Amino acid sequence: MGTRNLDQLKQEAFEVNMGIVKEKLVVLTWGNASSFDRANGIFAIKPSGVSYTLLKWQDMVLVDLDGNVIESKFKPSSDTLTHLEIYKGFSSVCGIVHTHSPWATIWAQACQSIPVLGTTHSDHFNGDVPCLPYLKMDKVQNAYEKETGIQIVDFFNNRQLEPIHMPGCLLSGHASFTWGETSNKAFENAVALEACAKMAYHSLNLNSKIEFPDYILEKHYSRKHGANAYYGQNVINK
Ligand SMILES: [Zn+2]
Repeated sequence: MGTRNLDQLKQEAFEVNMGIVKEKLVVLTWGNASSFDRANGIFAIKPSGVSYTLLKWQDMVLVDLDGNVIESKFKPSSDTLTHLEIYKGFSSVCGIVHTHSPWATIWAQACQSIPVLGTTHSDHFNGDVPCLPYLKMDKVQNAYEKETGIQIVDFFNNRQLEPIHMPGCLLSGHASFTWGETSNKAFENAVALEACAKMAYHSLNLNSKIEFPDYILEKHYSRKHGANAYYGQNVINK
């Protein structure tokens, strides 16, 4: 991937930040999104505490992987160090979305992973969306945002979960993070996560003993994302 100019990077981050508001994944300032140019080692992220109604693309804050702000009149999002650790830990990720969208947050507050119960979920997430445990007290007190990012990366690495095949997670007592190979993919995954969280809640209310077969999960995930994916228009060329 070639390097983008920095204005383009800011515009990408801005569009996703506005997108999560439009999709009602965010109220007040409960969310932030970033877009990463891996070739330059710089990401653009929402400024901290700035109302979405006043936000302009020029306000996005550029940050490098050492956490230095490149140029901005604003401080970056308070969750910047979480984004930074995810970009450092997941080499295929170039976009991150964090929101407190209600349905995903309900599962996070209940400290429960979102089980895969149907093909809508398995089109986006290759299995249950994991809910990570509460962070330990010393980590919360000393370097909360950085430790949150490290927790996510370690959790995925320890379980050999591929971040591209499981492009999001819940944090107990908190909310969700989603990511993708682009900021737009991270955005799509945030929308999908919220829809799946809502559907899973209601499905389990109707039937608490759902056993969605693995072979359907496998089929749906792989036809969209596997080595021989055939979902979408590229099928014409085969
Ligand atoms: Zn949060």
